[in-house]
Amino acid sequence: HFPLPSEEIHMKIMMVGDTAVGKTSIVRRIVEDAFSYQENATVGLDFKIRRMLVDNTQVRLQIWDTAGQERFQSITTQYFNRAHGFFLVYDITNERTFKSLDKWMHEIRQKGQANVEIMLLANKVDRESERKVTREEGQTFAKKNGLILYEISAQSNVHIEKAFLDLMRKIIDRR
Ligand code: GDP
Ligand code: MG
Repeated sequence: HFPLPSEEIHMKIMMVGDTAVGKTSIVRRIVEDAFSYQENATVGLDFKIRRMLVDNTQVRLQIWDTAGQERFQSITTQYFNRAHGFFLVYDITNERTFKSLDKWMHEIRQKGQANVEIMLLANKVDRESERKVTREEGQTFAKKNGLILYEISAQSNVHIEKAFLDLMRKIIDRR
């Protein structure tokens, strides 16, 4: 006989951070295992689904990809309260995107659920020679805000799956 199908957990994770840090590329990597140098700019809000097995739990993951532009922010932040978790993304080759993290944390704290899980992603580590934000600076920000930091690359597929699994585990553990 067949084993009974176990329950499937529905989970919503939101990608936030400035324009061009690589949010859409990260989603593309985890959903399609692909990468493109000319990713189209995201308009407003978009979502993708991936089913993943996290330890023994079957998860239907809905990944909400947001546009970082100011003109869309009032639209996207309206959905923040629906998310179980956030990936807050910056680009290690662009200091401005790192400086924006305080603003994004404020938005998440203000509009997200009170106990939402937030994970910090430092993207584009494949461009080490152009790095402007050190690993230590990233760690200091993470520590100050009680976040876990992953240094990743959507292009080279570094630590993407690991970061997703870790965030999903944290969300499962607090159910
Ligand atoms: P978004 O605006 O945050 O969604 O950023 P996109 O995913 O559209 O990416 C912006 C640009 O950065 C695109 O040209 C991507 O190809 C590029 N990009 C994204 N991730 C990486 C990465 O890990 N390494 C490198 N070198 N480029 C990346
Ligand atoms: Mg995008």
